[in-house]
Amino acid sequence: MSTTFPEVQNYVSGAMVSNGQPRLAVTSPLDGSQISSVVLSSRKDLDVAVAAAEKAFESWSSTPIKERVQVFFRYKTLMEQNIDELTRLVHIENGKTMSEARAEVEKSIELTEFACSMPQLVSGELLEVSKGVECRVEKKPLGVVASIAPFNFPHMVPHWTAPNALVLGNCMIMKPSEIVPLSSIRMAEMLKEAGLPDGVFNVVNGDKEIVEAICDHPGIKAVSFVGSTTVAKIVYIRASSNLKRCVALGGAKNHLIVLPDAHVEMTATNVVASMSGCAGQRCMAAAAMVGVGKVDHIVARMVEVAKTLIPGDNLGAVISEAARARIEGYINEAEAAGAKVLVDGRGAKVPGQENGYYVGPTIIDYVTPDMRIAKEEVFGPVISIIRAKDLDEGIAIENSSNYGNAAAVFTQSGGMAREVMERASAGMIGVNIGVPVPREPFSFGGWNESKFGVTDITGKSSIEFWTQLKKTTTKWNPEAKTNWMS
Ligand code: NAD
Repeated sequence: MSTTFPEVQNYVSGAMVSNGQPRLAVTSPLDGSQISSVVLSSRKDLDVAVAAAEKAFESWSSTPIKERVQVFFRYKTLMEQNIDELTRLVHIENGKTMSEARAEVEKSIELTEFACSMPQLVSGELLEVSKGVECRVEKKPLGVVASIAPFNFPHMVPHWTAPNALVLGNCMIMKPSEIVPLSSIRMAEMLKEAGLPDGVFNVVNGDKEIVEAICDHPGIKAVSFVGSTTVAKIVYIRASSNLKRCVALGGAKNHLIVLPDAHVEMTATNVVASMSGCAGQRCMAAAAMVGVGKVDHIVARMVEVAKTLIPGDNLGAVISEAARARIEGYINEAEAAGAKVLVDGRGAKVPGQENGYYVGPTIIDYVTPDMRIAKEEVFGPVISIIRAKDLDEGIAIENSSNYGNAAAVFTQSGGMAREVMERASAGMIGVNIGVPVPREPFSFGGWNESKFGVTDITGKSSIEFWTQLKKTTTKWNPEAKTNWMS
């Protein structure tokens, strides 16, 4: 990769700051080359950022929301004007294809558009509760909040949280994945260009140590996290035990239940797109297809569709050499346990990018629910087909997962679809849709071990997370009759 970027420092009070911390190399999964380096911050660096955010909060939180939102109208336009640059950055740092990277930035734009509609959604309530006595309820910001992001959507996940939290009057510490820190810094620069006051949005880079510091910091009121279930649990427990509100989204193992009457072309293309998009590194990716009854004709078409996916062309890279080895390990183990590899993506190489991290599309049939590949998150362009004799057995397989992000059904029968809609144990359900992401104003969030916390992370549900209710009772008429309630 000939492109390199300046070292990624922290972004505090509207400027880059560097304190001579240790550095980590940032590499592009496309070809394995170093493209930058990132600082690994200490607790002291976090203190500086939180102090800056606390200072900014005084004036930002008292700016009327209709003024705050103007920054985000301008920011949305800036993203649209610079979409090619932002797309390329995501492509290089994450390794997904250019069209997937563009779709990611477009989603960030949609999320910002939703934040711009906040003034229409967050007006308070008022009621005369006794003669001349009024109660009013307002949604107030929390203060300094934090957002911790994973590697798989370097631009979109920070936009799940920041626009809503900031429009609602909070100030934020963003902690991107140290593997993909470039997009968050561009986000901070563009927010400043859009007119966001210094200190409202700060980026602190680092790894485990800084995440733990965020969970412990007395100045941070709320922590949102997106990443693996193992870390989501750690963050949820640690932030909650420090009396912060927390929503922590974890990993996934999404089941797509395919019935014999499903539309063949729509099902085959949707299932393959769901398992292979972003090289399978989406928390909404199809990981297991539950084939109910006679679905061989659909599997045969899936095999043809999967074979049109070419690594380095219309199939992106996985994030690291370790991820590549882990994914191939799951395939090897399943094959050794008796599963049948119908399309084999092991050993994929891209000419000219031999040091990149690629796995080709992989379809494995006759996986059984007890195999590790059926239970654990593989996070690669791999789908396991588990056979079920009827819908009850199919739903039981879906229900047995520890996760519960998404589930989908492919059928032309409304009755069968309804069974799955009712009985699947997941937060987001698709009917003839392989990636059932609820679009704004609806909220994003799973069930079971895919999410810890009460609210979802986006959409209307996030308003509850990023605000607290202030209840005020007023009386201006001294002659009003009073009782113990007034
Ligand atoms: P990860 O859990 O390894 O890392 C996420 C964040 O936690 C990063 O910022 C990282 O620096 C930090 N971190 C890593 N190890 C830590 C530790 N031991 N203690 C404290 N902090 C730590 O996740 P990832 O590999 O970056 O992302 C992939 C995972 O994220 C997958 O499991 C995927 O399903 C999940 N994900 C979930 C959703 C969702 O909406 N549920 C969305 C995107 C990604």
